[in-house]
Amino acid sequence: MKSKLPNASTSIFAVMSKMAADHNALNLSQGFPNFESDPVLIEMVNQAMKEGYNQYAPMPGDLDLREVISQKTRSLHQKNYNSATEITVTAGATQAIFTAIAAVIEKGDEVIIFTPAYDCYDPSIELFGGKTIPVQLKAPDYKVDWNEVEDKITYKTKMIIINTPHNPSGMIFSESDMLTLQEIVEKHNLLVLSDEVYEHIIFDNNTHFSAARFSALASRSFITASFGKTFHNTGWKMGYCLAPEKLMTEFRKVHQYNVFSVNNPIQKALAEYLKTSDRYLDLSVFYQKKRDYFLELIKDSRFKIIPSKGTYFQMLDFSEISSESDIAFSERLTKENKIASIPTSVFNTDGEDFKQIRVCFAKTEETLREAAIILNAI
Ligand code: PMP
Ligand code: GLN
Repeated sequence: MKSKLPNASTSIFAVMSKMAADHNALNLSQGFPNFESDPVLIEMVNQAMKEGYNQYAPMPGDLDLREVISQKTRSLHQKNYNSATEITVTAGATQAIFTAIAAVIEKGDEVIIFTPAYDCYDPSIELFGGKTIPVQLKAPDYKVDWNEVEDKITYKTKMIIINTPHNPSGMIFSESDMLTLQEIVEKHNLLVLSDEVYEHIIFDNNTHFSAARFSALASRSFITASFGKTFHNTGWKMGYCLAPEKLMTEFRKVHQYNVFSVNNPIQKALAEYLKTSDRYLDLSVFYQKKRDYFLELIKDSRFKIIPSKGTYFQMLDFSEISSESDIAFSERLTKENKIASIPTSVFNTDGEDFKQIRVCFAKTEETLREAAIILNAI
């Protein structure tokens, strides 16, 4: 049988987490917190189960939850999404991304992505007959060259996928980036998928410029979000998608036959939990403290470091330590030094290697101290 995804292999997150477990290494590779989600939220889920919310939720999501998502987006970005027609709750951002791509990408369509890119974009595009056109961002600052983006647009281009704050680099799109993007997509009549799973993890008083803030951009964008990233429970796989009605109608046609509806008691709990805005607005301060604590601990290490501007990832440049490939370096660190990270060349066009590994600092202070002892000795 011919494979529909001949180039797909096991994801680097699964590979490195398994290697960490096999070699009893501290796991700073796959992006997940090693501390608990708020017990109040867990109690709300239990309560919703006891109250009997154990059967199918409505196809697009619990209406109370869609309403608080709508209010949250209005208050943060001054943009109204109709909870009835423009918001769908999904099984994590991954499903939202897949569904958006499935809904609009046809055979022969070209989709521009920025590499290093999160690993699910390209296979989803390929599965629906689309072609990924990568634009390689360069270390150390990973800034977008918008002229290069325009040069890659052809009559086949259908969509541009962006991710801000950006995994793995920790770069963020500025207001000027978003305005330029808006100009380009209007001029060439393109769709946008704006992956904003780290929307609430942004540092140094920077602003998250959601695609929702720019009306012409929002009118042609799917925006994807992840509760797993925001509320420290990546294993719950809950997220959502925002899009104007015309796009959301198509999104839901795919959603209803793929997933139909997602976890009902968790939606009920999130609807209640999200009413207190501090629960997500405090996240940047929470993670900035972790970033700063960690960077202070490793400031005398031999890694070259530019502080992450958002996400809970930090890039570590090892070019002054070793000339190995990033894959060999991170494998050796896992097996010999007992610390696991992600080699970031796997996310780049043609595996370009900037000698940077990614570590996740969504960890307890104790784990960060243990990690620092190892990293400082390398
Ligand atoms: N996009 C990016 C950039 C990510 O880092 C992740 C991982 N959280 C996702 C999408 C997928 O999110 P989820 O776990 O909610 O499916
Ligand atoms: N988003 C997580 C990361 O970047 C991993 C998610 C996954 O394992 N697929 O590490």
